[in-house]
Amino acid sequence: MTKHIFVTGGVVSSLGKGLTSASIGTILERRGLKVRMQKLDPYINVDPGTMSPFQHGEVYVLDDGSETDLDLGHYERFTNSPLTKDSNYTTGRIYQTVINNERDGKYLGGTVQVVPHITDEIKSSVLRLAGPDVDLVITELGGTVGDIESLPFLEAIRQIPLDIGRQNCLFIHLTLVPYLKAARELKTKPTQHSVQQLRQIGIQPDILIIRCERELGRENAEKIALFCNLEKRAVVEEVDKEFSIYEVPLGFVQTGLDQLVVEKLGLQAGPCDMKDWEEVIRRVKNPKHDISIAVVGKYIEHRDAYKSIYEALDHAGLAYSSRINVKRIEAEELEQGDPNTLLAGVDGILVPGGFGKRGIEGKIRAVQHARTNNIPYFGICLGMQVAVIEYARNVIGLTGANSTEFAADTLHPVICILEEQREITEKGGTMRRGAHPCLLEADSKAAEAYGTDQISERHRHRYEFNDAYRQQFLAAGMSLAGTSPDKKLVEMIELPGHPWFVAAQFHPEFKSKPNKAHPLFASFIGAALARLKGRSTLTAGHGI
Ligand code: GLN
Repeated sequence: MTKHIFVTGGVVSSLGKGLTSASIGTILERRGLKVRMQKLDPYINVDPGTMSPFQHGEVYVLDDGSETDLDLGHYERFTNSPLTKDSNYTTGRIYQTVINNERDGKYLGGTVQVVPHITDEIKSSVLRLAGPDVDLVITELGGTVGDIESLPFLEAIRQIPLDIGRQNCLFIHLTLVPYLKAARELKTKPTQHSVQQLRQIGIQPDILIIRCERELGRENAEKIALFCNLEKRAVVEEVDKEFSIYEVPLGFVQTGLDQLVVEKLGLQAGPCDMKDWEEVIRRVKNPKHDISIAVVGKYIEHRDAYKSIYEALDHAGLAYSSRINVKRIEAEELEQGDPNTLLAGVDGILVPGGFGKRGIEGKIRAVQHARTNNIPYFGICLGMQVAVIEYARNVIGLTGANSTEFAADTLHPVICILEEQREITEKGGTMRRGAHPCLLEADSKAAEAYGTDQISERHRHRYEFNDAYRQQFLAAGMSLAGTSPDKKLVEMIELPGHPWFVAAQFHPEFKSKPNKAHPLFASFIGAALARLKGRSTLTAGHGI
């Protein structure tokens, strides 16, 4: 029988509920349990695919092409839970299903209501993840208790124990205990109120995880337990971590959270093995080198807009026991500013994915700077497209070459929408998304990094390398290092004469883990470190 954990949040948003849920997943998986992760988002958008990175951070893409909340990135980095379109539901998607059912006459003329129709749909979205090979489903509820839009979700998870048995469900509530400087005290009242609000709805949390700047102390924990109707040991603290988010699961193991959950749910679990995570943290705390990487983008001031890129860079750094110092560069500034100044002292340059014209010329200048100064360059999605445009203009001599995304009437559309893509767009699908296979040239840097010539990576884009220019690029020395199995689509490019110039039409950052750096990121950081050390090659294992 699959058991269910529900993680809710109280007091304030941005408490790191995704990280906390993912970390709970880590420690239970490390006890040999098969875990599935899920996020319910109370906003009305059907999925985050259309939301601005400025508002909502990055859109996290799954193998099946689903565009999901960035918390699912934490789930994949922290656990091995397979994620699909069933791993992320929003209010919009739930209502869309119910409304479609209503239009199809499935409710036989009945009045369609929030309770039971919406709540039933939420319940089935949660219970869908249960199965014979699943010990535990961890469902994180976005938003904060007390939000109007969270209510149907809270009502649905209140009902689930009635359907499957209270002993099979565990409610974990994450709250904040703020420290008031003036009073020199930690304050527990907001937590008490937040739990009161949950209990009004009919949910008595089983475990409270308390976020706090400094140690909670036994006295406060006991007070919270008493006022919130909990056992003392069920008040678990999560003090801010000094070095890395990857410390959170280790902190939980120290507080005994894994054992508490196992006991409360009556699970059969093995001992907890966190050795590789301990090694990750050991490396985080003792970096041997500092590597400077410029990330040139247009959502630079928003920390979460390139979340998976930054994480993947950190993971690759750890593969070399190094700390990555990201220099975030606003692409528009490179349009006027001098690249020699703005990019001075960096060991590698990365241009990530993106949409729209703003900053494009700055990104192209960043590529040119990397290419002509032999600085390792890693282009991802749009970062590959600008590398193609730069080469067309400055090496092949195709003046004004561009992507039709930025100049519909360019004389040299080296990046454009291919016929097969046009069909997808016209059918209402918007992009080429999800996992696609790719074949690598045997002697490419990519094949060397992956250790294989057949890979599968995730895509999310409309535009492609224009096949009509293939011969010109080859003749000018660019290697089309990766293609679709039918050879029609160019998925990777490399410059053989350059120390490390590799770009991909896909998004490798979605498949990197702290204990298993992505091969391309690891290879890029290896090249950056080699440059830093003034040597030509360096290799390291990707795994820890
Ligand atoms: N805007 C480009 C396209 O649609 C690149 C997309 C991306 O970088 N994810 O093809």
